[in-house]
Formats: sequence, C-alpha cells, structure tokens
Amino acid sequence: MSQAWNEMNEMQPIVLRMLTNSIKKGRVAHAYIFEGDPGTGKKKTALLFAKSLFCLSPIDEVMPCETCINCRRIDSGNHPDIHVIEPDGLSIKKQQIYDLQQEFSKTAVESSKKIYLISHADKMTASAANSLLKFLEEPKSDTVALLMTEQSQRMLPTILSRCQLLSFKPLPHAVLKEKLVEEGVSVPLASLVSRLTNNFHEALELSNDEWFAQSRKIVLKLYEVLEKNPLEAMVKLQEDFNGHFKDKQQVNLALDLLLLLYKDLLSLQTGEEQGLAFPDKLASFKNTVLQSSAKRITEQMTAILEAKRKLDANMNPQLLMEQLVLNLQGGASFV
Ligand SMILES: [Zn+2]
Repeated sequence: MSQAWNEMNEMQPIVLRMLTNSIKKGRVAHAYIFEGDPGTGKKKTALLFAKSLFCLSPIDEVMPCETCINCRRIDSGNHPDIHVIEPDGLSIKKQQIYDLQQEFSKTAVESSKKIYLISHADKMTASAANSLLKFLEEPKSDTVALLMTEQSQRMLPTILSRCQLLSFKPLPHAVLKEKLVEEGVSVPLASLVSRLTNNFHEALELSNDEWFAQSRKIVLKLYEVLEKNPLEAMVKLQEDFNGHFKDKQQVNLALDLLLLLYKDLLSLQTGEEQGLAFPDKLASFKNTVLQSSAKRITEQMTAILEAKRKLDANMNPQLLMEQLVLNLQGGASFV
C-alpha cells in the first residue's frame, strides 16, 4: 500500500480523484498546473503522479506500488525519463528550458513516456516562459508537464490556457491548530503558526522554535508602539526589530506576522472574533479597531503587501521597513 498516496488522498481528495480518473480513462493531459499554498502537497502529488504513470505494477491501476524499480528510482530522484526544474537562484532561466527541450528531443531512455516537473513555475523569466510555451504548443504524445506554483495568476495566460489547472486546498487552519494544541503547543502560538503553514510538521517545528516565539513578541511590540507612540516606532525598529530579523527570509516572516495582525483587526472590524491569529490580544485589538476604520486597515495591509513585493525584488530590508513604519503610523494613504 502506498502510505503517501493515502495521505495525499486525505489532504487533497479532489486533486487525487481527478488524476486517478485521467489515468483510468486514458486521458492524461499533456500539461497540468498544480496551484496551491506552500505545504499543500503539490510536489508530493506530482511525484506520486509520476510514479503512477511509470509504476510497473500499480495497485488498482493507479496507486504506485512503491517497491518496483521505477517507483524506487523516482523516490531517489534518478529516473532517466523524469526531469525536474527548480529556480536557479531567483528565477527559472531560458537555458534551463532549453536544456529540457534538448533532453526531450531524444527518445525516452526506457519507455516512450517522459515527464517534467517545474517547481515555482511562476518564476520563469519572460524568455523562459516563451520557450516553454513553444514546447507546450507542440506536445509529444507521451510527454506530461507538471507545473507547480503558488500563484498561477503570475503566469502567462497563453501557458495557462494550455494546461489543466488543479487547485490544492489549504489545510483548514482550525484543524491544524487543534492538532498543534494536542501536541502541547500553547493556543496563541498554535493560532499563529497554523496561519503560516499548512504543513503539520513544519508547524510543529516552528511552534518549538525559540527564535519564532521571540519574533511574535517583537512584531506585537512594534505594533503596540505604532498605536501608542508612533514617533517611537522608528527607534523600536532599530532597537529590537533589525537585530532580530536579519536576512530576507526573516524579514519576510516578520511581514507575514504583521499582515496576520492587521487581518485580525479587519476581522474584528466586521465583528468576527473567531479564528484570530493573535487570540490572546483580542481585548487590546478591539480597542484599536474602535479608533480605526476598515478602509484604513485595508490601506495598512496593502502597504505590508507592497513591502513584501519590494523585499522580493531585493530592496534593502531596513529601508523598506522604515518606509513601511511610516505608512503604518501616518494617517496618509499609502501611495
Ligand atoms: Zn511501482
């Protein structure tokens, strides 16, 4: 039995059913897009699907046996007819697509089938995307493309239109939060962590990470200063924040925490008190909300999203945090 298959089937029943049907009916598409949040099992599913297609003795026609040579080679990442592309640095470059095409122009090593997986397919450069498009336009009968992305709207419409889109559902926060609390994680931490990832193991790891617990405190502190004494926010930034959130990834996490905090405010603005990321701050958040408006909170969230975008484009983190603090404290709209 394939344990991985059963797990994915519990997590993403609709996706698995669609893929199963396509195999059983002999209607496997030439190209799929797996879209979903991090931790929703896109890559796991892509590898399972590849195994299903290559397995020498699939159970019930589709479930990979996990023991044949093909299943094992896919697990160890060295099946000759499967090609995996990951971003090279920040993007997927034209050369990587070119190499893929070269490789796929040869006949398959072992059978007529070939599969390629592209992780973070939205990170293709324009020229890489155009090369891929040409490739997708002339599908070979036994080639399957599996493109994975967290944001399919960032991909070329012409690519999207040639792929079958499968959406991966996030694990419900509430379910994940409960599982964490059962493991002894405090409610405030479990509430927050379950908003950051859908992956239980990742969530548990984060819950037990001292650096993360400290991050939560620092972000809350920054917010409190912004509310009570905006002039001091810049000082707070330099005192606590910059020393704790050093690299890009860490600053990105801080921005995610801030975003969740303002989302909580927006929920409270509409009278929704359930499912907050910071449930222990309910009373003080309610106070803030009385003095703000949904419009203002939305502007603040937009400013945070904009900061995330700038961070992604490699703007200096300290500089963008300073700009953000100005945008969050001032009454003026974010431009
Ligand atoms: Zn097998």
